[in-house]
Amino acid sequence: MQSFSYSKAQTVDQAAGMDGRFIGGGTTLVDLMKQGVETPKTLVDITGLPLSSVETLPDGGLKIGAMVRNSDLAHHETVKAQYAVLSEALLSGASPQLRNMATTGGNLLQRTRCPYFRDTSYTNCSKRNPGSGCAAIGGHNRMMAILGTSEDCIATHPSDMCVALTALEATIHVQGPKGDRAIAIADFYKLPGTTPNVENALEPGELITHVTLPAPRKASKQVYLKLRDRASYEFALASAAVVAETSGGHIRFVRVALGGVGTRPWRSHEAEAALMGKPATATHFRAAAEAALKEAKPQSENGFKVELAKRCIVRALTTATA
Ligand SMILES: Cc1cc2nc3c(=O)[nH]c(=O)nc-3n(C[C@H](O)[C@H](O)[C@H](O)COP(=O)(O)OP(=O)(O)OC[C@H]3O[C@@H](n4cnc5c(N)ncnc54)[C@H](O)[C@@H]3O)c2cc1C
Ligand code: SF4
Repeated sequence: MQSFSYSKAQTVDQAAGMDGRFIGGGTTLVDLMKQGVETPKTLVDITGLPLSSVETLPDGGLKIGAMVRNSDLAHHETVKAQYAVLSEALLSGASPQLRNMATTGGNLLQRTRCPYFRDTSYTNCSKRNPGSGCAAIGGHNRMMAILGTSEDCIATHPSDMCVALTALEATIHVQGPKGDRAIAIADFYKLPGTTPNVENALEPGELITHVTLPAPRKASKQVYLKLRDRASYEFALASAAVVAETSGGHIRFVRVALGGVGTRPWRSHEAEAALMGKPATATHFRAAAEAALKEAKPQSENGFKVELAKRCIVRALTTATA
């Protein structure tokens, strides 16, 4: 590991103006520093900042501080009762020990598990070395993405929490040298295109302060379904976050987001359009799944993800509308 300096921010204003890399739980960043993938010169410890609360907003929505630990958020009474998809997604991720450390801000910015990205002996990784190609295309790509890929990168976005936040239409609030901004999660993550090294809309020095969620739809049911190689402590092969509301057997409101298959947390407007106003039946769930995966581009080892993701969507919709 390269040497680095360390400082602890005392206030949010101080942190937002500091020149360095923020460290929350450290469960992603420290690994990457040990592997030589990330080499920050300065670490800014933000664990002392007053960003650890979960509050109900006057409009009925929820404000989640960036330092709220994944375990605390998953077990928060309001989250369990009104944003079950978020609680379920968090509890499906990593391990209890990791969730006790991991923060909301850090989870939003966790980086891909692509093995070539994490092994610096491979020089052809455009996410690490812009313009150098992609070792995963034609290499081992079983875990890679099938939606939103480019010729320069096929890395999967690894987070479960962010898939739920996408279905819940979260907003990410940041503070930086130029002031405060609110970014809809739909605009936060970038497709890889020709610049997979640019992963999100953050500008240098911007600190994530909190995330807000709209007021819950009281009549909706929420489900997070994660399919993976083993039942715990494993990243998704395919996952689906569904928020659905039915009346008279018809779908009146629906949000569908996918994990494990996209280069970013994947909102499927196609699936939603195929479902809106339709009877909540297996035929329409399957049609929605077909629409969601229509543009899928599998690689040599991950063609199975296309059908797996479809079945994941159908099952999540079936549960959410039961
Ligand atoms: C073995 C293992 C298994 C895992 N399995 C899963 C899984 O199944 N599902 C899943 O979703 N995740 C999984 N994870 C990932 C885990 O969820 C993340 O490591 C964790 O959420 C990151 O949070 P952190 O606070 O530790 O981030 P850190 O490591 O502290 O930071 C991560 C990044 O975010 C930046 N950052 C942190 N906070 C802020 C902020 N407030 N503002 C701006 N930048 C910030 C840091 O600079 C860094 O770039 C796994 C991790 C490990 C090690
Ligand atoms: S998929 Fe992306 S992260 Fe993985 S080797 Fe290719 S460019 Fe690098």
